[in-house]
Amino acid sequence: MFVDEGNVLSLGGQKIGLDSGDASVCFVSHAHSDHTQPLKARGRKIIASSETLALAGFQANGNLVETPAVLDEVELKMLESGHVLGAKQLRAEHDGRVFAYTGDFKLRDGLTTKKAEVVECDTLLIEGTYGESGTIFPDRMLVFEEMKKWVDEGMENGSVLFGGYAIGKAQELVKFLNDYCRVAPLVSGKIEQACRVYEKFGVKLDCVSASSAEGEELKKKNFTAVLPHYQVEKGLAAKLCGVYGKPFRTALATGWANKRMFDVDEVFPISDHADFAEIIEYVEASKAKEIICCHGNEENLARELRSRGHNARARGEAMQMRLVSL
Ligand SMILES: [Zn+2]
Repeated sequence: MFVDEGNVLSLGGQKIGLDSGDASVCFVSHAHSDHTQPLKARGRKIIASSETLALAGFQANGNLVETPAVLDEVELKMLESGHVLGAKQLRAEHDGRVFAYTGDFKLRDGLTTKKAEVVECDTLLIEGTYGESGTIFPDRMLVFEEMKKWVDEGMENGSVLFGGYAIGKAQELVKFLNDYCRVAPLVSGKIEQACRVYEKFGVKLDCVSASSAEGEELKKKNFTAVLPHYQVEKGLAAKLCGVYGKPFRTALATGWANKRMFDVDEVFPISDHADFAEIIEYVEASKAKEIICCHGNEENLARELRSRGHNARARGEAMQMRLVSL
């Protein structure tokens, strides 16, 4: 059992690209563009959820592997990862040994996703986006209460702009505005497309296209909007204030809230990734004997895990060790 630097798993006689197009069989954990490379590569057999394929706009042409499946004596199964709609982990078993890849995951429920299931395994490949020991997110529902107060205040004499990733965060922001603030926000094109996919798979979201006639009507009153994160900044608020003659508040929802500077009025710590405590919780509950850290702060996370007595290494370190042993 081995994972190379290109994120390709070798297990039995089978090779599987893990969010990587470097094998003939590829697993796509979710629809964020840094994980969908296999969908752009030619002639790959794809393991992915229907939700992921719909969000990525991918039309399968007989190249889907339906799971659970057995390929070359390797048993494959997908499990929830709790990251965004349709995001999955991969469990692969061969000859009594179990491998698990978390993909991007979190161990807490969101408004539009259920938390990840922990996979008991021998070897665990785990993401380390927030693999620093100080990174702990507050209770999500308490943050939503704070956000509600902030929206209510902003709507008294103006409008409110939220920014987030177009797939995942934006839909949770729409759901938050529906459920906590009882408003249907304006959304831009790509976010609306993803909202429609969420709805197709049973997640009810009430939003209005910013470019529709209904959207134009909404803009005449105080309104809320959910836009891609890179569009929301104070400069946009100032421009809109000039057009509509009322103040605009800006906010982002991101796990980087306390770590990076953003040009907005408020940053709320809502993440679709596991924080450090969730990563440790997953590792311990998985009972993995070998842990490989990937995606993000992998060297640091591997060090932290080793200091807690785990057999852990960063993905790159695993490659170096193998080369030395050859
Ligand atoms: Zn992601």
